[in-house]
Amino acid sequence: MLNIITYLDSSQDRELIQRAFEFGKNAHAGQKRLSGEPYITHCEAVAAKLTEWKLDAATVAAGFLHDVLEDTEITKERLEKEFGREIAFLVDGVTKLKKIQYRDTAMATTAATLMKMIFAMTEDIRVMLIKLADRWHNLTTLQFLPAERQHLTAVESIEIYAPIAERLGMGEQKGQIEDLAFPYAYPGEYRKLMRLVGKSYKKRTRYLLTIKPKLLRHLAEKNIRPLDLHMRVKHYFSLWQKLQRPEIEGDPERVHDLVAIRIIVPDVSGCYLTLGHIHQLWRPLPGKFSDFIALPKPNGYRSLHTKVFANRGQIVEIQIRTPQMHRQAELGIAAHWAYSEKGKPETVVASLQELQWVSKLREWKETIHDPEEFLESIKLELFRNRIFVLTPKGDVKELPREATPVDFAYKIHQDLGAHCGGAKVNGRIVPINYQLQTGQIVEIIPDKKRQPSLDWLTFVKTANARRHIRTILHH
Ligand code: MN
Repeated sequence: MLNIITYLDSSQDRELIQRAFEFGKNAHAGQKRLSGEPYITHCEAVAAKLTEWKLDAATVAAGFLHDVLEDTEITKERLEKEFGREIAFLVDGVTKLKKIQYRDTAMATTAATLMKMIFAMTEDIRVMLIKLADRWHNLTTLQFLPAERQHLTAVESIEIYAPIAERLGMGEQKGQIEDLAFPYAYPGEYRKLMRLVGKSYKKRTRYLLTIKPKLLRHLAEKNIRPLDLHMRVKHYFSLWQKLQRPEIEGDPERVHDLVAIRIIVPDVSGCYLTLGHIHQLWRPLPGKFSDFIALPKPNGYRSLHTKVFANRGQIVEIQIRTPQMHRQAELGIAAHWAYSEKGKPETVVASLQELQWVSKLREWKETIHDPEEFLESIKLELFRNRIFVLTPKGDVKELPREATPVDFAYKIHQDLGAHCGGAKVNGRIVPINYQLQTGQIVEIIPDKKRQPSLDWLTFVKTANARRHIRTILHH
């Protein structure tokens, strides 16, 4: 609690955080986690994580409150009265996301759709960040859950939440989520990996520490003094995935970046200079150099990566970047909410261009120049023309906006469409021209006697439904 308070330099923010903490504590009073700890410890951990990402006070406050709508008597109205619209909106958003659950681990294609659906439901990216912090903490306490839920949560985390973190450019978070989930999702593989590489990590780290002084001395001679030089240890799950590649043949000795050297230098030209001097010291492996500064990854990742033959001919991966690139690589989109020294959100100018995937997904024709406008567009308009609804069995169906039960029925099968007698949405009967919304569970009531009529054409939204209706009408 204390460290959360002290990083906020406005007393107003501090007061808000304190109030959110007290409110959450009272709301969850008497509730316990499966670990036996008071429930509020979970909320504190989530808020602490959001603080670590240096998010704004409203988000941290929402972290303390993120479970009150779901698990206590508190209503959204009450929350809004106490904390204002923004915080109530964030908490409500997180609560809505909980309704989307991974039901069938066998359906590999669903993971992608589910991820899209989560994006579609997230109007404010901060909701997703709270969700990621929440998931991260739940994974750290997974040992207290019954085995079946451990497995489902772990697989869901790897299939859905880790890719979301990756899309948001949060590399470190992605790695942590995967590594926490790995032993529960794929226990056999995890044990096998530990047996295989347990010693390799230590061996590699020890070797790199022996070459570190020589590297630093060489750079110092060229007047390069890195701000930091540290060992980057590859996350287990990503190592496991790499070992499956045909050219690696499951041999950890062939994974050259098991432990890599990471060098932080003050500026971009320093990155290239450092690279040049390293290549003079140690011969680079042909074709193994990547310039992610000139050509950033789609999620905004920037760095120089090279592989060299170091002492005794050992292959070593070296990554070079500036502090800003490092922050972006660790925090991704969260880096843009970070507080400046004055306690106000930093302006986010280049961010949209950096996050190429955002602009791709948005299919936005116009570029945004105004940072204010970017903050507005935090309300993710991804897939704004699509909705995602569920079948009673939990399959996700993607439809255009304003699609109706008839469109949904035709999407499942043309016969079901043709005999669409009625529909239930979240268990309640609705007219067949009802406009569906993301997150709803839709059930079609078939009626053998029902036939498509001309007026169906006035409300259906999919070409597929329209085509089938026309065919029947023309007979
Ligand atoms: Mn929670």
